[in-house]
Amino acid sequence: MIVVMKRGASQQQIDHMVERITTLGLKPTVLVGTERTVIAAIGREKSGVAAALESGAGVAEVMPILAPYKMASREIKPETTVVTAGSLSVGGEKIGVIAGPCSVESEEQIMQSAKAVKAAGATALRGGAFKPRTSPYSFQGLKETGLKMLAAARAETGLAVVTEVLATEDVPLVAEYADVLQIGARNMQNYRLLEAVGKSGKATILKRGPSATMEEMLLAAEYILDAGSQDVILCERGIRTFETHTRFTLPLASVPYLRQKTHLPIIVDPSHGTGHTYLVPDMACASVAVGADGLILEVHPDPENAMSDGYQSLTFDEFAETMRRCAAVATAVGRRI
Ligand code: PEP
Ligand code: MN
Repeated sequence: MIVVMKRGASQQQIDHMVERITTLGLKPTVLVGTERTVIAAIGREKSGVAAALESGAGVAEVMPILAPYKMASREIKPETTVVTAGSLSVGGEKIGVIAGPCSVESEEQIMQSAKAVKAAGATALRGGAFKPRTSPYSFQGLKETGLKMLAAARAETGLAVVTEVLATEDVPLVAEYADVLQIGARNMQNYRLLEAVGKSGKATILKRGPSATMEEMLLAAEYILDAGSQDVILCERGIRTFETHTRFTLPLASVPYLRQKTHLPIIVDPSHGTGHTYLVPDMACASVAVGADGLILEVHPDPENAMSDGYQSLTFDEFAETMRRCAAVATAVGRRI
């Protein structure tokens, strides 16, 4: 349930309610909003608990959270959460743009990419060092060497680093180098991994599983939030359908749907969502038009020779042009890029 504090409730009253909630066997999380402070009280609720909390000093009202996901629900927080990690900010008026190659391949490749995407307006650098590949014989990533290259690119450009963590045991290592941990689509329901990233203290991008429903995705986000993080970015990256003209099907209705259901910021990945470079710029613009808080785009200095996902990567020039087009759309919908 949600304990809504009165406007101007004192810190002492908030602390007291946190203590009361804990005594009643529920887990309290204080969410300080611009309008008011609410305390989410999560756990198995015994009867009479709401009435017991309602009488607390400084309490305006106690309400049930109807959605199965509690911490992720917009019911507990009417305003969209702004997640900030280094140079990246997602959820505010300005649209966050995360760009870079699918995989980190060499110092030169990632450094060149970082400089080019920054010059074109990207606010964070992406690049996989641990790669989830369909075949065990495909390039698996440079691992820690790749993470070091990402850190060097951050030192040079100031761009925040977004990179995937594939396994629970890798979380401490990846968290040492990354500003934002990416949970890949294939791992969306790896619950131990979700808990580990939630405890890491790092912001997280949670990608939608290719066969996951919106509710499953929001419940996956709930694992991260429940583990102690408040910095979760949801990413629509396309789902598996009968359609073959694209690698995945990119359902952009999920953006306004999620907007209604959750306070978490929402980004779109038109690279994996389409699987074809020529479709990426239009779908990036469409994502901005439909209200996405950010984009994650694959950009490579030489897509033809990329070690992964070259067929869906933009060149530096194509990325710069995509940014220009998205900026015009952003203005039309009251945002900035
Ligand atoms: C990626 O971002 O390179 C990636 C592997 O994405 P996804 O998990 O969405 O397939
Ligand atoms: Mn990729």
